[in-house]
Amino acid sequence: MDCKRAESLVTDYINEKMDLHEQREFIAHVKNCSSCYDELQTYYAVYFAMEHLENGESNPSYNMNTVLQEDLKHRERHVRRELAKRWLLVTGCILLILLVLLSLFL
Ligand SMILES: [Zn+2]
Repeated sequence: MDCKRAESLVTDYINEKMDLHEQREFIAHVKNCSSCYDELQTYYAVYFAMEHLENGESNPSYNMNTVLQEDLKHRERHVRRELAKRWLLVTGCILLILLVLLSLFL
């Protein structure tokens, strides 16, 4: 994923409107690209502040960098788990089909 693509996906990431593969590539990119990370952090801070204002929290004293790091870590784990689940499902289906085919010939 290049910077142009990553920048265009910042709001999608924040609004959680990405598919798993895209999210995985995006996270991998921002972890290794400081300019895209800064971009994400800026948007994320604005979004986070608005969320907390809406919830009536007057003085959120969060360290945005920590919050974003946690979010990235959390989503990375989520993506990995979901992709592993899909892989297991696909592998399970293939095995099942093979078993059915095999039983037809036995
Ligand atoms: Zn970049």
